[in-house]
Amino acid sequence: MTSKRIFHLISFLLFNCFILSSYAEISPSLYHLKKAYPQYVQSVTNHYIYWKDGTRISIQGSSSFLDWINHFFYSGSPSIDTISQKEVQREHYEAVFKKMYGGSIKEVRQHLKTVYWMPHVYGKLYPLKVTTINGIDKKLQRISAALEKLPPSYFKYLARPAGSFYWRRVEGEDYLSTHSFGIAIDINSHYSNYWLWDYKKTRKPLNQLRHYKLICHNRIPDKIVKIFAKEGFYWGGNWYFYDTMHFEYRPDLFA
Ligand SMILES: [Zn+2]
Repeated sequence: MTSKRIFHLISFLLFNCFILSSYAEISPSLYHLKKAYPQYVQSVTNHYIYWKDGTRISIQGSSSFLDWINHFFYSGSPSIDTISQKEVQREHYEAVFKKMYGGSIKEVRQHLKTVYWMPHVYGKLYPLKVTTINGIDKKLQRISAALEKLPPSYFKYLARPAGSFYWRRVEGEDYLSTHSFGIAIDINSHYSNYWLWDYKKTRKPLNQLRHYKLICHNRIPDKIVKIFAKEGFYWGGNWYFYDTMHFEYRPDLFA
C-alpha cells in the first residue's frame, strides 16, 4: 500500500470517528442542566459537564475521538467525578447532585435548613430539613404558603409529610435517593401510590401498572402537583416507576 493510500485510509477512519462521536446519544435533559442550574454549570457537551469552578464531570461510555482530542487540549482542572451513560439515560445524576449539594452526608448537612411545613395550619408540627442551595428552602416555603391557601379538603394529602432529608440509597438500586441531598419531599404516604406496592398487591405486568395508575390509582390532586411545579419541583407520579407522594427540585426536567 502506498503512503498516499495509507494517508487516505487514516483520514477516512478519523473522519468516521469524528462523525460518530458527534452523534453520541445523550439524554436531551442533560443539555438542560446549564439553563436549570446557571450558577453552577458552564457548559455541557456530549462528553463532559463543565462547571463554573473549572472542574468537569466526565460522561462515561462516550469515549470517542473527540474525548481523545479533548484530553490533549483541555487545560482546566481534572475531572472531579464521572457519570455513566446509564445514569444519564435514567436521569439519576448522582455525580451532578453530589457536586452541587454535597458529596457526603456531612457536606449535605452543612447546607440544611429547617422549614416548618404549612405552619399556619399545623404550627411547628412538621419541621422539614432541606438544602439552602439553589434557594430550595425558600422555594419550599413558598410552596408551603401556597398550599395553605387551598381549601381545607386538600389538607389530608399534605398532613404528616413522610420525609425530606434522608441519606439513603434507593431500595434495590445502587444510587442515592434525591432525599439524600435535601432536595426532595414526600407528602402524606397514606394517599400515595408507589409502583412497587401496586406491583406486589396486583401482580400486574409492569407495562399495565402505569396504565392502571393513570386510570384509577392516582389520588394526588392536580392542583397540588401544579403548585410544586411552579417552583421547579417535579412530581414522582410522572415517572414510569411512579411514586405519587414524592416531589423533588429538578428544574432540568421542566426545560
Ligand atoms: Zn420521596
